Amino acid sequence: MNLVEVAVDAPIYPALTYIWDQEGIPERGLSVEVPLGSRKAKGLIINPSADADADSTNFKLKKVSGLIAYRPQLSNSFLKWLEWMADYYVYPLGRVTSLAFPPLKPSTGKRNATRKKDVVKTVKADSPPVLTDEQKSCLDAIGELDAFQAHLVHGVTGSGKTEIYLHLLEKCLAQGKQGLVLVPEIALTPQLVNRFSARFGDQIAVIHSQLTERERTNQWWSVHSGEKKILIGARSALFCPITNLGLIVVDEEHESSYKQEEKLKYHARDAAVVLAKLTDCPIVLGSATPSLETWQNTQSGKYKLHVLKNRVSNRPLPKIEVVDLRQERHDRKANVSTGPNDLPFWMSEKLFESLTACFERKEQSALFLNRRGIAQTVLCQECGYVYECPNCAISLTLHGKRNLVCHYCDYAQLLTDQCTNCPDGEPTSIGLGTEQIEDDLNKMFPEARVLRADRDEISSREDMESMVEKMENHELDILVGTQMIAKGLDFEKLTMVGLVLADVGFNMPDFRSVEKSFQLLTQVSGRSGRHVEHGGEVIIQTYNPDYQALEFALSGDFTAFARSELEVRNQLSYSPFGRLAGLRISGTKLDQVKNTAERLRSRSEKLKESSEHYADVQILGPTEAPLAKLRGKFRYHLLLKSRTPNRLSAFCRQVLGDSRWITSGTKVQVDIDPMSLM
Ligand code: ADP
Ligand code: ZN
Repeated sequence: MNLVEVAVDAPIYPALTYIWDQEGIPERGLSVEVPLGSRKAKGLIINPSADADADSTNFKLKKVSGLIAYRPQLSNSFLKWLEWMADYYVYPLGRVTSLAFPPLKPSTGKRNATRKKDVVKTVKADSPPVLTDEQKSCLDAIGELDAFQAHLVHGVTGSGKTEIYLHLLEKCLAQGKQGLVLVPEIALTPQLVNRFSARFGDQIAVIHSQLTERERTNQWWSVHSGEKKILIGARSALFCPITNLGLIVVDEEHESSYKQEEKLKYHARDAAVVLAKLTDCPIVLGSATPSLETWQNTQSGKYKLHVLKNRVSNRPLPKIEVVDLRQERHDRKANVSTGPNDLPFWMSEKLFESLTACFERKEQSALFLNRRGIAQTVLCQECGYVYECPNCAISLTLHGKRNLVCHYCDYAQLLTDQCTNCPDGEPTSIGLGTEQIEDDLNKMFPEARVLRADRDEISSREDMESMVEKMENHELDILVGTQMIAKGLDFEKLTMVGLVLADVGFNMPDFRSVEKSFQLLTQVSGRSGRHVEHGGEVIIQTYNPDYQALEFALSGDFTAFARSELEVRNQLSYSPFGRLAGLRISGTKLDQVKNTAERLRSRSEKLKESSEHYADVQILGPTEAPLAKLRGKFRYHLLLKSRTPNRLSAFCRQVLGDSRWITSGTKVQVDIDPMSLM
């Protein structure tokens, strides 16, 4: 009897065994339909000749229902990558393999018979510029594209990184191979895609979340068939099996949107490196502010580092001014301030003056506020002091009125009336949203045209394009937004940029908050005055002007920043030296959620004790998540920490085991290498 193991598209971890009595020989990587319970499910053959140890189970084996002929066979290396994904991110293999196929069957009959809407815009062709010396030596150092090697191109914005990708792709295509380019959020980067089409014409395909199922399917086939040579896409483009992959590029590799936060919680950059390795092709990561994980890999020699120090066109960088909000407060209290006396707390005199001047010059300004999540930032407005967990070095989160809690390890302390750091301070939680900023601006500048741009307002490519258009046509004077709009914007008349309350970012309850702040500060500063000879103006308002990441960002010294931050990470075994796994427990009843969380902890402790192998696994919590309730569900989490890579995935798989111990009504989700623990 011929048995095959099939990864079935269902919430089951192991592959299932079926009888093969179809015509032809079963092969690894072929898609089949199989019976599952009373229904039919799709699946992928993982093992075409399984052992006949069916006796050990009492199940009566079922037969494969049939081949899914329209799905192409997956290559062994691609399948190995899918297996790695399922293993590492602790997710059912059949669910992972199902992502490798488009949502619909291929179009049949007359091609393009349906209304043809261009997924990739046709743009005027351009030709490559003469490369700068820096670009040349970078390309030389990357060299031949014939085997796996990871590269980091670290270059300030405007240093010509994209031009390097374009040259590498040209080389890749000349070898008869295909290229994959990952970008963080394609909907937000229409300008980038245009540059690729200008160079490569109709050889480009794009895959992102805003395509229809039909568009997505067609793009998928055009790449898989080899008709299109370059696939540009957001993280999900990784799942398109490219037959002849010769190069992967990951632009803005530090972006946290590469991490998928739901279902299969993978990090597209990390997954891309593994794919490159299994496919034996080079991968090029690019960023002006590399992630510390990638940076550490260049320091240890695993990745090759290439640095571009200069901008292609030698525009001056903007003038950056830091406003000390503590001083501002003092001056107002002492009545020595000279500006209007009814400015809102978040608006310094300096910022007010600059906004006014910019408006009078008929130029544009933008104000950014960090997305705050739900966690409240508690700080002393007198001295800037922030409460930190003594164990985890992350900011404590305010629960209720007085409880400061660490949501990594559950350490707690009371919020006292008086600041522990200065004699006069009274730490409070500061609340400020983009709506309030918009309202205040409308009152202070009744003639100015103000637009608010945050996730609520800008959720689609159309919204983004319309915002860009309004800025370009100067139909707006002041843009108010979250960091999401800080990325990659480039406007001629934008000459004043303010970061309203930098502290919100400094104090996110997350071990990456310093890194994220450094990135945001660097990004924001790059937005101003990109087209004016005198350079633009940037104002950063903060209660902590001596915050170290701020000093590094001001001096533009990434290396020094990385050195200092890596030292802290190392001491506390945070990434890249240690790994975290988050186990998220959610449900509609609080006691059930707590119950599952406690059981999870005791199962984890037992597992740790049962094996030397897990000796270095630390178990933190469980604790209430900062977003303690979301869409009607209570949320808890338990964190696992280890200095040994790959250990946590196995640990999680074992702890979860069969799920019968999970209190009904609750759900446990695994997040390996979490980017956000809200
Ligand atoms: P980055 O990706 O690092 O931000 P880009 O590749 O987008 O940099 O380059 C910035 C600008 O300079 C773009 O407008 C690009 O067309 C232009 N540019 C890049 N390389 C050259 C070059 N060698 N000569 C002239 N212009 C260049
Ligand atoms: Zn802690």
